[in-house]
Amino acid sequence: METLSLLSPKLAKQIAVNFGTPIYVYDKAALEKQADVALAFPNAFGLTVRFAMKALPNAAVLRIFDRKGLHFDASSGYEAWRAIRAGIAPQKISLSTQEFPDDFADLWKTGIKVNACSLSQIDRIGRQFPGAEIGVRLNPGKGSGGTGKTNVGGPDSSFGIWHEYVDNVLDLARQHRLKIVRVHTHIGSGSDPVIWQQVSQMSLELVKKFPDATVLNLGGGFKVARVSSEKGTDMQTVGIPIKEAIEKLAKETDRQLHLEIEPGTFLVANCGVVISRIQDIVDTGTAGHRFLKLDTGMTDILRPSLYGAQHPVFTVPARDTGKKHDYVVVGHCCESGDLVTCAPGDPEALSSRSLPEVQIDDICVIGGAGAYCSAMSSKNYNSFPESAEVLIDANGKPTLIRRRQMLEQIIQNEILPEGL
Ligand SMILES: *Cc1c(COP(=O)(O)O)cnc(C)c1O
Repeated sequence: METLSLLSPKLAKQIAVNFGTPIYVYDKAALEKQADVALAFPNAFGLTVRFAMKALPNAAVLRIFDRKGLHFDASSGYEAWRAIRAGIAPQKISLSTQEFPDDFADLWKTGIKVNACSLSQIDRIGRQFPGAEIGVRLNPGKGSGGTGKTNVGGPDSSFGIWHEYVDNVLDLARQHRLKIVRVHTHIGSGSDPVIWQQVSQMSLELVKKFPDATVLNLGGGFKVARVSSEKGTDMQTVGIPIKEAIEKLAKETDRQLHLEIEPGTFLVANCGVVISRIQDIVDTGTAGHRFLKLDTGMTDILRPSLYGAQHPVFTVPARDTGKKHDYVVVGHCCESGDLVTCAPGDPEALSSRSLPEVQIDDICVIGGAGAYCSAMSSKNYNSFPESAEVLIDANGKPTLIRRRQMLEQIIQNEILPEGL
């Protein structure tokens, strides 16, 4: 059964009263525990774990992982700057971006690392910084993701340099005297572990074509189970064959590759929840549905609307009636797509959950909300403010780590032309 292990109903109520709703809550001890599990990934000649910060870029979370010894993967120039501003040493930040930053030169001079994600990126880096040491992100020809939207490998994916263009990569590198020291692949979020392994082996083959490469980065994509019907990836199971293959390569060629992994979801998904209030309860008659309307929704958790993602839902009744109902849980936006309990993989199909009977104003907690929720909200839609974020420490004490946005901040960049 799914349980609300992260916080007790009592603490949920206390946070709702003290900080307001909707609010993200993260558990520091859980984040640290996930970091420890990732740091135990099997490796032969050393391991660097990079947190793919796009999953949850709050500075407090970055600092927690920094103290645990993790490094960071930034997916845009802005994200790299954000990590630097959070106090992360630039040497620990690696940029793998779809959009090459205009201010790359300034970023590079701070000391960050880069994985060129296209041939033109290699060229652009080489023109500005001939002789630099870089990594390259390759598309190994095969991908896997929990959904088509999160599969970022194979011929339908624009991510990384197509594996058949290795000679072009080497030519460009020679032209600019670039040294390719890292080979990087990332095939998708929520990857099938079998395919993840296959692709990792393919990546290891690709490394052989890069004589200067000392680091193999296998990306992220490790699955976590947010609801009981899902199965998480076991890091030991997927990691051991890769470790053995790296050892084999070392025997054959004397190359001792340092391994990097880059989890986002794995490190944070089940370390966060959203606490909301039930702001209305309506039904559509005997043949219809009973709806719980929350004061949150796609403005805080977009994943159900986008992917048909499943998140556990817990109601916290002020008064326990002992009864349960099948509720369809919806968000607060004026859009039927703002659905929390959609059918698995089908954002448009309503699905209900059997939950303890609740009244208006009771609390509803949505679990599995650490990854790609705060980071990927449809912020300010319907002009709802960006929600606050709270971190609970090992003693269960909540501390605010992001204030709730104010209406002034939503409209602060608007300019009224004269005459209006
Ligand atoms: C998004 C991303 C990750 C993390 O993916 P998860 O599925 O969250 O583990 C890792 N590496 C790169 C390059 C990414 O873009």
